[in-house]
Amino acid sequence: MKPELAALAQRVKGFMPHNEGLALYRAGAEVAALGSLVEIGSYCGKSAVYLGAAAAEAGSVLFTIDHHHGSEEMQAGWEHHDAELVDPRTGLMDSLPVLRQTISEAGLDDTVVPIVGDSVTVASHFGAAALVFIDGGHGTAPAHADYEAWSPKVRPGGLLAIHDVFADPADGGRPPYEIWLRALEDGFVEHAAEGSLRVMRR
Ligand code: SAH
Ligand code: MG
Repeated sequence: MKPELAALAQRVKGFMPHNEGLALYRAGAEVAALGSLVEIGSYCGKSAVYLGAAAAEAGSVLFTIDHHHGSEEMQAGWEHHDAELVDPRTGLMDSLPVLRQTISEAGLDDTVVPIVGDSVTVASHFGAAALVFIDGGHGTAPAHADYEAWSPKVRPGGLLAIHDVFADPADGGRPPYEIWLRALEDGFVEHAAEGSLRVMRR
């Protein structure tokens, strides 16, 4: 990964440790020649810089999907709330302006295509992908819905990545771990692991 992009990714607000971001970049780079990359959960674009860097090198694209109003745990009063991301006109969270700024600073405007909307709605109109990265809503219903809607989109030979997979409940919530187990049961094969990132091959 180009050092300037690696440095930028580390400055962007978000939830992706650098070692896990680099593992995501490697996964993207491996399969980007097969087709497009898809990310569920753009937030401010941190992980999109890692995946976008991989897509750009292969002449592919990254579709990054988010409604930009934040997950449950990002709303006011919750653990991951960031008051700077509240739109004063609506009182709602809006991370889209920061995402646009990140993509433009990274020079990835031609590579990273933001899609603003609900991930399952988008999935129902979406074709196949070389890589799908699931990092959207982390509650039981949203995580399982993302798995059901998006895992079938991974091309044979492509990769499914899931973030925040914690085997020990003391380290974090269950749903990402549950959908990782489901993927293995459904025949995805373990490919790489770094921190809480799991990558599987279809
Ligand atoms: N990948 C990001 C972090 C994503 S946080 C990073 O690298 O920092 C999870 C994001 O998922 C939030 O921005 C939230 O708005 C989004 N999200 C939650 N549920 C969603 C849904 N149903 N459809 C689209 N986006 C959703
Ligand atoms: Mg995450």
